[in-house]
Amino acid sequence: MYQLSDEVWIISRSDITNNSLTKLEPLFSLSNGSFGVRGTLAEMPCGNMMGTYLGGVFDKSDSYTPDMVNLPCFLKLDIVTEKERFGVDDCKILEHSQKLDMKKGLVFRSTQLKTPSGKILTWTSYRLVSIVRPYIFVEKHILLPENFSGKLSITHHLDANTMTIDTWKDMYVNHYEVQELEADKNHFLYATVKLNDSRHPVTVATGMDIQSNSTVHRDISKNVISVVYVCEVYQGKEFIFDRFSSAQSFMQNPDQEKLQSLVLDYANQQKKAGFDVIKKEHERAMVNFWNNTDIIIGGDPELQKNLRFNIFELIAGGPRHNEKISIGARGLTGEQYRGHVFWDTDLFMLPFYIYQDPTVARNMLMYRYHTLDGARRFSASNYTHGARFSVQTADTGDDASPVYDVDSPHAPIRVGKTGESFRGRLRVPWLTREEIHINGCVAYGIWSYYKATLDKKFILNYGLEILIEIARYWCSRMEWVKRNNRYELLKTVGGDEFHFHAKNNAFTNYLAWFSIDWAIKLYRMFCKTDSESVRRLEDKIGICEEEIAEFEKKQSKFYLPQPNDDGIIEQQDGWLKLKPFKKVIMDSGASMSIMRTTGIQPNSDGGEICIRGIFAANDWQIVKQCDLVILFWLFPDLFEREIVIKNYDYYEDRTIHMSSLSPNTSSIVAARFKGSDADLDAAYHNLLTSSQVDLCDYQFNAEWGLHYASIGGTWNSMIFGFGGLCVTKDMEIELYPKLYKKWNSLRYKFWWHNSQADVYFDGKRVILKLLKGEPFEVKIFGTKHLLKNEMNIEMGV
Ligand code: BGC
Repeated sequence: MYQLSDEVWIISRSDITNNSLTKLEPLFSLSNGSFGVRGTLAEMPCGNMMGTYLGGVFDKSDSYTPDMVNLPCFLKLDIVTEKERFGVDDCKILEHSQKLDMKKGLVFRSTQLKTPSGKILTWTSYRLVSIVRPYIFVEKHILLPENFSGKLSITHHLDANTMTIDTWKDMYVNHYEVQELEADKNHFLYATVKLNDSRHPVTVATGMDIQSNSTVHRDISKNVISVVYVCEVYQGKEFIFDRFSSAQSFMQNPDQEKLQSLVLDYANQQKKAGFDVIKKEHERAMVNFWNNTDIIIGGDPELQKNLRFNIFELIAGGPRHNEKISIGARGLTGEQYRGHVFWDTDLFMLPFYIYQDPTVARNMLMYRYHTLDGARRFSASNYTHGARFSVQTADTGDDASPVYDVDSPHAPIRVGKTGESFRGRLRVPWLTREEIHINGCVAYGIWSYYKATLDKKFILNYGLEILIEIARYWCSRMEWVKRNNRYELLKTVGGDEFHFHAKNNAFTNYLAWFSIDWAIKLYRMFCKTDSESVRRLEDKIGICEEEIAEFEKKQSKFYLPQPNDDGIIEQQDGWLKLKPFKKVIMDSGASMSIMRTTGIQPNSDGGEICIRGIFAANDWQIVKQCDLVILFWLFPDLFEREIVIKNYDYYEDRTIHMSSLSPNTSSIVAARFKGSDADLDAAYHNLLTSSQVDLCDYQFNAEWGLHYASIGGTWNSMIFGFGGLCVTKDMEIELYPKLYKKWNSLRYKFWWHNSQADVYFDGKRVILKLLKGEPFEVKIFGTKHLLKNEMNIEMGV
């Protein structure tokens, strides 16, 4: 009915077992950063993990910590003829395919189903979550009876029994109480529910545009309301209907009294607008997004498609309609990590938005501002000053990391350091207590945004306040170590997560030092230029030059680990004394998968390490995910190239890339700093791995949602690695692109100081065009140029 885009824009799957369908749900999920619907088929096959989510809607109830709430479900359709139901569980499947059209932002399914009595129906549907209208999910269903005519009953349900799955599948949690479950005069079904803890309302409404008689069925006792449409269908003739579903909460409409009527009106209005109008407008907006964000690689169709998948998810996941929500570790595509925001967001996802869609980047940083009080509370509860962003946060910014895993009944039994035994998984209490590097990541995000946008207003009204509170935290968290005559950070867990109670994790220490530096720099700079705004901040949070001088004093005596005589920087104090490990499996995708399934890593000495938990790894030189190496990406001019290369080689040999956050960093550093074919092969391989973490289910947990840090990281490795984009310590933008041997060209766009540029590189020359905004200075292959309209720079000239 509708033409899908060319094959290069299509992710296509035809797997049909229940297990595989559930695993595919995140891949075919749709969202717009505010509203997300999982890609479950409308007949809702057995074992499905259907989810409907609104960004920022959390509730704790009986869970260990706030969960992103799985809202009432509007998806289920029962299509029945003469007591036979059409669906993948009920029929023989003659043909099946699901497709994601990334260019248009559409999900398509087409299934030919045969009932036990031999009736054949082809069921086709198109779905989208509008990127333009924030809270609407629309579908067009096309039913084609291949060999029968007669009556078809189509029952549309709104089910207010949904629960949230605890990600370790230990339990299901109910997060709301049904207030009203009804149908309006147009047979739009609606449910208004109140979240158990906050008592805040959420309304879900859903209705059809269909030519048929209908009757409403209420089964209020079971919290389900349904409407039955009975229609006459004819062999060989398509029967078409559309469905419009919406959900909104107190976050979108603070007027709680009016929420229900607003949502119902909104859903009815969408029906009036019609599927085609909504689709057209959505596709037009998608074209615009793609115009700005596409990366075009000549000569590598596999990577090209993977990259588009990752970019598509970033477009879809960006919180562009609300500055109080950010992106959770799995976006709005699944319940693992409960919708919580991690360092994943500030370090791995934010860069895409800074350079491609700065208003979304600002919203994500505003989430940090709106949750600053929670971070202040968390810091106070740790007896430190300022603000400490927890490693996992939900809606308030309070620490939302679960420490429950110690009692998890399905987890393996472990013995703790002091001899106590308990059941537990990776996420143990001190992980969250000690993983303080996230505070530096939040600061890094603010600083990077400022460098790229010069958004002074944001810094003066919000960013500087966060930076100062973060600096206060670091200054109170560092400890004076008398025998070393310096301040140090003791008891930390670095990005790697395998080593706890670590002293002076280099990644954390450098981030802390720089966070303090940015607070000092910006405070002093704006004291001169915008003293009135700074005075307001001083009144608000009591900052003053004396305190800034105190920051400076502490910063000057704060320990920054340095390379030893061999050029190696220890990941943490005593690293080189740990038991030696060198990995055998160099393929990051395979290594990731083996770790996930067996927990075993072969060591180059012929032995193997069983890492079923953090305890085993703590004594070894084994790195779960890039840690120290991240510094070379974040601060490209911090160390001499020779030091970077030495440390990259050393740590890459010991990094098993068990986390999906990891291969992209290795790729960036290898592509930027190393030059041989073998190095670029390694960089390319890690880029490819990162780009298909979800497409190939390397983590064996596809059903629980897409890995958004890896999605963002893929973009990072493409742009900051091979694309060669970098911001120097002097705040200059520099381009040093490299082509992989398979490619014949590379093209991308980026925003810088309110101007947009287009980069094309064919291996010999860079063509740089100013697309929008004022001319700006850019270094290309080390030489400064003023980009006015178009430049053609030969490499090595
Ligand atoms: C990683 C963390 C990450 C979290 C959420 C964990 O497996 O080790 O670094 O923040 O997943 O994606």
